[in-house]
Amino acid sequence: MAFPSLLFHFLLLLLLTTTLPSLTTAFPPKINTTAYPASDIITRDICIIGGGSTGTYSAIRLSDSGQSVVIVETKDRLGGHCETYTDPSTNETVDYGVVSFHNIDIVKNYFARFEIPLTIALDATPGQVIKYVDFRTGESVAGYAPANATAALAGYAAQLEKYAYVEAGFDLPYPVPADLLLPFGDFVTKYGLEDAAEFLFGFQQGLGHLLEQFTLYVFKNFGLGLMQALKTGFLTTTRWDNSEIYEKALAELGPNVLLQSHVIATNRSGDGVKVLVQTPSGSKLILAKKLLVTIPPKLSNLHGFDLSPNETSLFAQFLNSAYYTALLRRTGIPPHISLTNTGANTSYHIPPLPALYSIRPTRVPGLYNIKFGSAFALSDAQVQALIVESVLRLDTAGTLNTTTPEFAAYADHTPFELTVSKEAIEGGFYRDLYALQGQRHTWYTGAAFHTQDSSLLWEFTEGLIPSILA
Ligand SMILES: Cc1cc2nc3c(=O)[nH]c(=O)nc-3n(C[C@H](O)[C@H](O)[C@H](O)COP(=O)(O)OP(=O)(O)OC[C@H]3O[C@@H](n4cnc5c(N)ncnc54)[C@H](O)[C@@H]3O)c2cc1C
Repeated sequence: MAFPSLLFHFLLLLLLTTTLPSLTTAFPPKINTTAYPASDIITRDICIIGGGSTGTYSAIRLSDSGQSVVIVETKDRLGGHCETYTDPSTNETVDYGVVSFHNIDIVKNYFARFEIPLTIALDATPGQVIKYVDFRTGESVAGYAPANATAALAGYAAQLEKYAYVEAGFDLPYPVPADLLLPFGDFVTKYGLEDAAEFLFGFQQGLGHLLEQFTLYVFKNFGLGLMQALKTGFLTTTRWDNSEIYEKALAELGPNVLLQSHVIATNRSGDGVKVLVQTPSGSKLILAKKLLVTIPPKLSNLHGFDLSPNETSLFAQFLNSAYYTALLRRTGIPPHISLTNTGANTSYHIPPLPALYSIRPTRVPGLYNIKFGSAFALSDAQVQALIVESVLRLDTAGTLNTTTPEFAAYADHTPFELTVSKEAIEGGFYRDLYALQGQRHTWYTGAAFHTQDSSLLWEFTEGLIPSILA
């Protein structure tokens, strides 16, 4: 009988290894607190999961309010979508992730706290000439000129004003107004906003198929605050190094940041929160009064969390788009030439995705920033191959003499925009999501709870802090 028994164990092992992610979500490992020596136990007021834009902001603000904190971050740095490249030959820095911030007090105070000067964000490469190219063919789009969006944007702003509550979060009225759930393409034609569509696409990179997104998500990502920022101008760091704030925050938080670490298990059923974390120096047990989750709350990103059936059912509904950024050199593209992907024969000249949004020169001569979007995740090899093909197609089409480029930097920022179905929104998804705040000693911030905008997310997080401290 040895053979059937071995076969049974083999099949069981196969089953366990192939289904492990879902099993770990459903049944996180139990945490035996007595198994950890005092040196491996970290006791804090608040444990923060994720050290990106909102995780770092929360850690600083909560520390400043007298709370002890610890951040658990999977990467080897803080900053999330913020990416800064240092050119080895010139030592110049280039922000190729987050570039700009709103000109508002919360931003100014946060940077001032770390003595980082800000300036109005101007075009990094004055005098650049924009070519409008359809990257499917590599050809310039004959006779194309961007539409004058001024009047249509005023119409868009008038629509936004009807739904001012979307500025602060997802506190929606029920029933949810039908216009918010129209695919944005239908909303554009309903209100005659055609001349603003391409402009909005350029501003809402990473959102996937803009015309298919519900108007709610377009409003969330291009709201009245952003329209105001267009008038006042955006801010950026005078030293062209947006990562500096994260480096300074890391230096200040010191051992309160666990980098290259991930959650193995959580237990939120008692008086506080237990979080078992795998760190480069072994497993650590965090005992905290409260948990603040700032990561994209997709089930695939919550392995080990002791999710309630309600949490599981909410987080399982999130879909996501994909967004990538890269720096290329040796493209053959002449200095000061900037390329915008423009559909030759598409609605409002919006290019089909997956595709490059643009190729922009940076302040380092010969170094170009690529932004790439898709409605679904692609592998790094696929994205990089599509980028290279697009650059070389410019040469084949006779548009520019391009050569096979070299990647100086590349970063995948997927999952990006988290969305749910129309039925879910109508059925009170966001009401139920927001009702999670404070339950089981757990609070949430981050883009899924508001919008993909660091400045507005810091405001949202600030609004949450009193309830965390209460
Ligand atoms: C290319 C690009 C350009 C952008 N440009 C701008 C801009 O100019 N201005 C602007 O305001 N916004 C910009 N954004 C959007 C902005 O970056 C986001 O809105 C903001 O970073 C979201 O903050 P967050 O805290 O939700 O997520 P993030 O900043 O992404 O932070 C999440 C953090 O959690 C970590 N993490 C993820 N999963 C886990 C896990 N399971 N365990 C532990 N840690 C985990 C991640 O590594 C990351 O550090 C840009 C985004 C991208 C991708």
